[in-house]
Amino acid sequence: MKQALTELQKRDLQYVWHPCSQMKDYEQFPPIVIKKGQGVWLYDENNQRYLDAVSSWWVNLFGHANARISQALSDQAFILEHTIFANFSHEPAIKVAEKLVALTPDGLNKVFFADNGSSAIEVALKMSFQYHMQTGKTTKKRFLALTDAYHGETLGALSVGGVGLYNEVYQPLLLDTVRAQGPDCFRCPFQEKPESCHAQCIQFVEEELSQHHEEITAVIIEPLIQAAAGMKMYPPIYLKRLRELCTKYDIHLIADEIAVGFGRTGTLFACEQAGIAPDFMCLSKGLTGGYLPLSVVLTTDDVYNAFYDDYGTMKAFLHSHSYSGNTLACRVALEVLTMFEEERVIDMIQNKGERMRKIAMEAFEELPFVGEYRQVGLVGAIELVANRETKEPLPSEERIGYQIYKRALAKGLLIRPLGNILYFMPPYIISDDEMRFMIETTKETVVQFFEEREGVSCSNDNQRCHLS
Ligand SMILES: *Cc1c(COP(=O)(O)O)cnc(C)c1O
Repeated sequence: MKQALTELQKRDLQYVWHPCSQMKDYEQFPPIVIKKGQGVWLYDENNQRYLDAVSSWWVNLFGHANARISQALSDQAFILEHTIFANFSHEPAIKVAEKLVALTPDGLNKVFFADNGSSAIEVALKMSFQYHMQTGKTTKKRFLALTDAYHGETLGALSVGGVGLYNEVYQPLLLDTVRAQGPDCFRCPFQEKPESCHAQCIQFVEEELSQHHEEITAVIIEPLIQAAAGMKMYPPIYLKRLRELCTKYDIHLIADEIAVGFGRTGTLFACEQAGIAPDFMCLSKGLTGGYLPLSVVLTTDDVYNAFYDDYGTMKAFLHSHSYSGNTLACRVALEVLTMFEEERVIDMIQNKGERMRKIAMEAFEELPFVGEYRQVGLVGAIELVANRETKEPLPSEERIGYQIYKRALAKGLLIRPLGNILYFMPPYIISDDEMRFMIETTKETVVQFFEEREGVSCSNDNQRCHLS
């Protein structure tokens, strides 16, 4: 199986330290050097292609090397690439801000630019805290976040994160966050059904808020999907209840739509499905269609006004990044937003979502070890379990998701599981044939993996092989 390393692979291994990786794994499984992309496909040095079912970490919306976006980027690069953003501005940023205010829920009227998702989270946390310091609520020094939350990997963002894999080792460095048990629809403690859910589990948040509300400045949440935790999905009613609680206790609600924004859940923003407006909305990832790092925090006039005063009062929000509001990134974001307006993207996502659901349900419904197939918009996930009835998890030390990932790559499919959860989050331009390839290849890989693991064989036409 093991092939000789290419020249570029050798140099990569010598010089590069990759994200989210144990570099020792690369000895067995070296980095795949991608030479070009087209649509949903990535092509490596040997011209082997991979269907990018994870949209290159959830950022790509309209395919790789998209002609329209590339043209806009190229044109802009010859006009203005970047400028200082304090006291200076440029048309792409102004237009992006104007459009975002129009497109996001009512009340989000001001746009602050940063340059990646984690820094947008830092901005929202700092703004919320400073707001309360400047409006006389100086006891509010803590944030409330959910178990299994993911908000990025800088220290502030890790402090509100709830995925132990990422933040455990840094605990001594992190903020003292109030933690509430989040929704868990696959293993619902109240045995509610998603269709008829009353979000009883909001009581875990309510308990913490009623106890700590004087100390809490903001609640932060990933609307509808706790993505990095394993595409854990929950119904909009939960967000509605949360919004009510935040209002009741006079606490900000920060909606982290970095992963779910820009159509992923079948509406332009996930908050729309709950009919709520947060006090802060963080956006990044899809904002530039997967082209360039850029992020924004939208907030209300109320928040903005608490900072607006004579310079000498020292109420200004002094946060900045060198690349805040980068011109090229803003020009690309403007093109992406224009595509949403002109190309009926939301309809397309909903239609493709329906087709994906149908194909995936057929493929996975009867499969042993598949605890559930769940989907919202164009995010689908399979939770692999040891036992379908009890939903007992598979042992994490086996790294089953990782084994399946490697096997799928050999078949030309890039799915990068989260633990034992396999998911599909393809670019919106995926065709029906590509969607079928993505799902069938996943199924085939899962079946072959478990056949080997269990030492049994399933005939190809019989999905009900007795593995479990
Ligand atoms: C990816 C992500 C972030 C962090 O964004 P980066 O650009 O990777 O720093 C924050 N929140 C959510 C929900 C994300 O999915």
